[in-house]
Amino acid sequence: TTPVLPLDLLDLDSLLTDEEREIRAVVRRLVDDKVRPHVAGWYETGHAPVRELARDFGALGLLGMHLDGYGCAGSSAVAYGLACMELEAADSGVRSLVSVQGSLAMYAIWKYGSEEQKQRWLPGMAKGELIGCFGLTEPDHGSDPAAMATRARRDGDGWVLHGGKMWITNAPVADVAVIWARTDDGVRGFAVPTDTPGVSAREITGKLSLRASSTGELTLDEVRLPDSARLPAAEGLRAPLSCLTEARYGIVWGALGAARDCLHTALAYAATRTQFGKPIAGFQLTQAKVADMALELQKGFLLALHLGRTADRGALRPEMVSAGKLNNVREAIAIARQCRTILGANGVSGEYPVLRHANNLESVLTYEGTSEIHQLVLGQRLTGLAAFS
Ligand code: FAD
Repeated sequence: TTPVLPLDLLDLDSLLTDEEREIRAVVRRLVDDKVRPHVAGWYETGHAPVRELARDFGALGLLGMHLDGYGCAGSSAVAYGLACMELEAADSGVRSLVSVQGSLAMYAIWKYGSEEQKQRWLPGMAKGELIGCFGLTEPDHGSDPAAMATRARRDGDGWVLHGGKMWITNAPVADVAVIWARTDDGVRGFAVPTDTPGVSAREITGKLSLRASSTGELTLDEVRLPDSARLPAAEGLRAPLSCLTEARYGIVWGALGAARDCLHTALAYAATRTQFGKPIAGFQLTQAKVADMALELQKGFLLALHLGRTADRGALRPEMVSAGKLNNVREAIAIARQCRTILGANGVSGEYPVLRHANNLESVLTYEGTSEIHQLVLGQRLTGLAAFS
């Protein structure tokens, strides 16, 4: 179970409400019960029980947690962030499942879908009975989705989709794929039932990161859809980018969970590992490491909480989320690697979560906008010049 050590040097917990602390405790219990005992095994085999987990998370209201109506919990951004932190303290892949379901697939339908699409998909997705994925990235187009090659062309009253998406979380298990495609009028989104003829998904195997998450390649081969599958309110690339801002916000919190778990593990290890006749926790170099890491964790928490409170008063801007993702993932990966050194050789063993977290964070650093792209977003904001367009 989650060890309790005094990481909260600055008593930042006092900034949370009782209700927020209670939600965190409930998610932590679920994670301790359903995820932690098994996750190292899922990581090792490269298979997580996605459907079972989705039902467990759905029963607790974690899927589409921050959305209103259609069976969603309608909780605050801060509560959602705290949930992401607890989930990712177990494994980034498990948090990815929740982020993609709630903040990418469900959010896209909730924000841009028709009433019929919302009724059809959202209640089942909130319960975890239906799984969604979000297909933006393609084999040849990642950071620059404006160059996407997947096309949607008019066919009578309907559409024909053709192309392929790559690195799509949950694609191999999804019931519905939110697909972004180029039309003569610009980028449009479609809620595509994955049993539609022409849709196929292949599991990407051999990942050395996020192994407890299902990632796939989606092929769309002349997929015929009625116009009712198009998300009517989604016009242009702004729509998928707004979904990414939602999911990225959860990562700002989630990454801290992975880092916290590493620091807990390293502190517990250092307290009992004896070299040169004393616990390695007593050496000054170890203490410098843990002090610096605890400070970065607390600063990251303040940043995440600030973004959450700002979101809850409706004032969150995309570049703020870029700042949060850039900082917190960068610091989390540095913490994970530093904790790895404290565990010595045991740090490379799957018996401890530290290298698993570090490896997972490599994906987190890349998806939802790479660090470099977020630097460019901030650079554009600071200089008024877009370096990447
Ligand atoms: P590229 O865009 O080719 O970038 C390669 C390198 O070049 C990076 O370092 C990048 O920062 C740098 N670079 C690119 N352009 C510039 C520039 N202008 N200036 C400076 N540097 C630049 N996508 C989805 O749509 N849905 C998903 O569910 C999803 N899940 C994922 C799950 C996993 C495990 C992973 C690893 C990825 C997932 N992705 C998903 C894809 C992810 O969003 C992309 O990998 C990401 O956007 C980067 O694209 P790319 O890999 O093509 O890298």
